[in-house]
Amino acid sequence: MEKKTGTLYLVATPIGNLEDITFRAVQCLKDVDLIACEDTRHSKILLDHYEIRTRTTSYHEHNKYEKAAELVLQMQQGLNVAVITDAGTPGISDPGEELVKQALQAGIEVTSLPGPSAVVTALSMSGLSSRRFVFEGFLPMDKKERKAALGRLEQETRTIVLYEAPHRIKKTLEELQAVLGDRELRICRELTKKYEEVLPFTIPEALAYFEQNPPKGEMVVILKGLEPEEAQARETARWQDMSIREHVDLYMRQGMDEKEAMKAAAGDRGVSKRDIYRELKVDKAED
Ligand code: SAM
Repeated sequence: MEKKTGTLYLVATPIGNLEDITFRAVQCLKDVDLIACEDTRHSKILLDHYEIRTRTTSYHEHNKYEKAAELVLQMQQGLNVAVITDAGTPGISDPGEELVKQALQAGIEVTSLPGPSAVVTALSMSGLSSRRFVFEGFLPMDKKERKAALGRLEQETRTIVLYEAPHRIKKTLEELQAVLGDRELRICRELTKKYEEVLPFTIPEALAYFEQNPPKGEMVVILKGLEPEEAQARETARWQDMSIREHVDLYMRQGMDEKEAMKAAAGDRGVSKRDIYRELKVDKAED
């Protein structure tokens, strides 16, 4: 008889408080054949606390490609594998993502046991709008990609959630200040731990605070989105000095076809599409 393929279980673990784990998660970690841990020594504290004796193996940022392939092979041979990371939900800004990708590609069943995640914990207690938010995770390290990511945040009207390490927070806040000015934010520190706090600031205030109080502990940064009216005003200012051709091209670069772009430009300028068309015809004749 053909051996049944194993399952990959993504198991959310505490982000600070050892009690923040579900009964189901503990049972699953006891039942699987193997637990892939981001850091086996770190996870040992949790596993010992819940008397989980399952075999562990390390799966982290620096071995994720080869190790994911190895784990996939083991699951194909019938092993049930759980993956846990240092904190929170595997796959959210951590190496879990690669294993999920490879497992799915290999046709392995993947399931997630929900539990803590710093993004949701921070957002829910921030007091900023949580109806629409954008999760950036860690900003890219690559200079060009980072600049592009920061540039995209400039016009963002949704609440913005970022992960950051204490030793990089000042630099990141300086970069955010260059794009977002004195935007309101929250620094959510040490969530679920003894010194948990949510600090309400503007970006310059947060920078001044960290000058006096060296940043410590894990943190999530939550920024207010741009007010929709302000976003609209900036959008208007962007095209006001443009010719109609440049205005239409702007929309086409954003992915619209010429017809849609002409309609959008007409809407911005409060004129009819026909007026725009006439202008462009003239443009073409002059070319
Ligand atoms: N997978 C995790 C999750 O679901 O939240 C995130 C992993 S990511 C590598 C680690 C980052 O999460 C930290 O740098 C910090 O930004 C955030 N984080 C994790 N635990 C936290 C805590 N207790 N308080 C504040 N932020 C935390």
